[in-house]
Amino acid sequence: MENDDLGLSHDSTTEPSPIQAFLKHLYTQYQPLQAGKVASYIPELAKVDPDLFSICIVTVDGKVFEVGDADQLFTLQSISKAFMYGMALEDHGRSYVSTKVGVEPTGDPFNSIIRLDESSKRPDNPMINAGAIATTSLIKGADPTERLNRMLEMFRRYIGHEAFVDMSVFMSERTTGHRNRAMAHLMRNFGMIDDRLDESLDLYFQQCSLLVNCRDLAVMAATLANRGINPITDEQAIHPDYVRDILSVMYTCGMYNYAGQWAYQIGLPAKSGVCGGIIAVVPNQIGIGVFSPRLDSHGNSVRGVKICEELSRQFNLHLLDLAMGRCKFAETQSPLS
Ligand code: GLN
Repeated sequence: MENDDLGLSHDSTTEPSPIQAFLKHLYTQYQPLQAGKVASYIPELAKVDPDLFSICIVTVDGKVFEVGDADQLFTLQSISKAFMYGMALEDHGRSYVSTKVGVEPTGDPFNSIIRLDESSKRPDNPMINAGAIATTSLIKGADPTERLNRMLEMFRRYIGHEAFVDMSVFMSERTTGHRNRAMAHLMRNFGMIDDRLDESLDLYFQQCSLLVNCRDLAVMAATLANRGINPITDEQAIHPDYVRDILSVMYTCGMYNYAGQWAYQIGLPAKSGVCGGIIAVVPNQIGIGVFSPRLDSHGNSVRGVKICEELSRQFNLHLLDLAMGRCKFAETQSPLS
């Protein structure tokens, strides 16, 4: 599709916005795509309707564009890792957190256990499961309830309304998450995490089971795009000093062993989850949320990757295009404002 098809010169009083029209076009184009499989290693996730599909964009000045099942609830899964990393940074500061979890991409799958050994002082990065469990173990609180409430309160600021945990998904993960449990025990043995192992694992399973819809995803991403201020509620969700840290690890590690290809081609800080959600952040511009449960072999949503690819190409959203002044989003949006 060429730029002209976006209606750059459209009259906003008579026509739908070019962004809304483009989302509708993408939705129609990719709805027939049925490649991939829903995650089934967490039994509750296997129950999802694989055909669900929604795309949402929220701008840093609070405009919302959405198509598809934007109200459908699903669980955040690994997307939570980026936000918990921000919380750990706020709780302890950058230098302490960096002694507990690194920032190196692994090129390994998200649930890989192979690089956890005694010679590595800390898990590689906070976006893989081991690193995320280590990050969650840093969350402050006198007891499990206080830690859970602090976590829910943090997510409330990002989504702009009360946050809830899906109890069925939480129990499903808790009872079948032997691999995550094994990693936590190994990390405990290596002195990487403290004694609150079971408590921290519960908190990890709870953050993964947080209920959101696709609009929430886009608002969370737009909050990161907007220096930590939720563009809908104007509430500061995270200290602005840590937004760059979160976006850096999302950029290098957020899409697991597809992160290099993603950085090259799409060029945006992003995070996926096995629920089928993806968030992508265009700093100072927009947050993107996509939800479609069928996953590729990396555990990333098949349609989600395609949609982000198309949006990045259409609007030149790659960070380096942004840095070189080639981003076309603001220009396209201007007829709206
Ligand atoms: N809760 C999932 C797990 O721990 C999260 C994985 C993911 O979304 N990639 O395995």
